[in-house]
Amino acid sequence: MTLPDSMIDLRSDTVTRPTPAMRAVMARAPVGDMQYGDDPSLNALEQRVAGMLGKEASLWLPSGTMANQVALRVLTRPGDDVLVGSEAHSVWHEAGGSAANAGVQFTEIGSGGLFTAADVRRHAKPRDQPVLPLPASTLVQIENTHNRHGGLVFPQADVEAVCAVARELRLATYLDGARLWNAAAQSGLSPARLAAPFDLVMVAFSKGLGAPAGSMLAGPKDLINAAVRQRRMLGGAMRQVGMFAAACDFALTHHLARLADDHAHARLVAQRLAACPGVRIALERTQTNIVVFELDGARVTAAALVAAARTQGVLINALGPVKLRLVTHLDVSRADCERAAGVLAALLGA
Ligand SMILES: *Cc1c(COP(=O)(O)O)cnc(C)c1O
Repeated sequence: MTLPDSMIDLRSDTVTRPTPAMRAVMARAPVGDMQYGDDPSLNALEQRVAGMLGKEASLWLPSGTMANQVALRVLTRPGDDVLVGSEAHSVWHEAGGSAANAGVQFTEIGSGGLFTAADVRRHAKPRDQPVLPLPASTLVQIENTHNRHGGLVFPQADVEAVCAVARELRLATYLDGARLWNAAAQSGLSPARLAAPFDLVMVAFSKGLGAPAGSMLAGPKDLINAAVRQRRMLGGAMRQVGMFAAACDFALTHHLARLADDHAHARLVAQRLAACPGVRIALERTQTNIVVFELDGARVTAAALVAAARTQGVLINALGPVKLRLVTHLDVSRADCERAAGVLAALLGA
């Protein structure tokens, strides 16, 4: 179903469509066969992204989900245990792919998507146990910002402490940084600084940056070479991706600096919602472009609120029976967000 353009679509930051300027650079991008190393637009993007993330090499993947799956297959073996914060994307939103593709189990640690070095020490299961056959923990994974926990930024001091303990315990480290750009905008720290403690890092271009597709893994050459093979095995090795790469490059140049606007717009909506009866929202956790809130004694259910908002031109998502999520992005203006907040507040009886 096609949506009318008048809809204010806050379901996700993936709904953005390439701007005319982005389409123009896509149309004239030089391309070649990626698998022969012949795509000049992609080669340039891989260099740029590796540089921005302070890593030796980077690798194109068609989606963030495939990047997560490839990373798991590079950093673990079937039967391994992965330590991860609660409600991680790879646990909740990848159709069980982590079990199917990498054969790993997850142990959720900490709370609210965050955890500490002490949590890692407490939950890491030692390998080489001769008597009790424990599943060896071999990987710690952090999601920054955290999708299901409302775009929460993982405090960098904790990131560094977690990764230091992981190294001590010989665990690999992986950053699901689909929205690392938002974490950088919010914290004032560079993407390279945020990525530095990790073995492998994923970033996405199809979220807040507004490109039509694309994610990348970045890390040392040996891990990226291993990832090339896994990408091929999962069917993610493409050909003339230069048109996408040009869109991603354009997004890095033109859409990075404006992420702070999305954060301000999310804050505006969150503050309005916080004043509504029956809404539970942690304003201090609304740090970037995602607003997660719960209904508790509100006059509507989550499903009813989603349906009623839709009839008034505002699209949001229910994450559960009482939990809702909305996401700001470059296709919604401040005025759109003010209007959406007004619609939701009226439906909630504010
Ligand atoms: C969206 C998202 C992904 C997956 O990206 P897709 O390109 O949609 O497959 C992975 N991790 C996080 C945290 C995400 O928000």
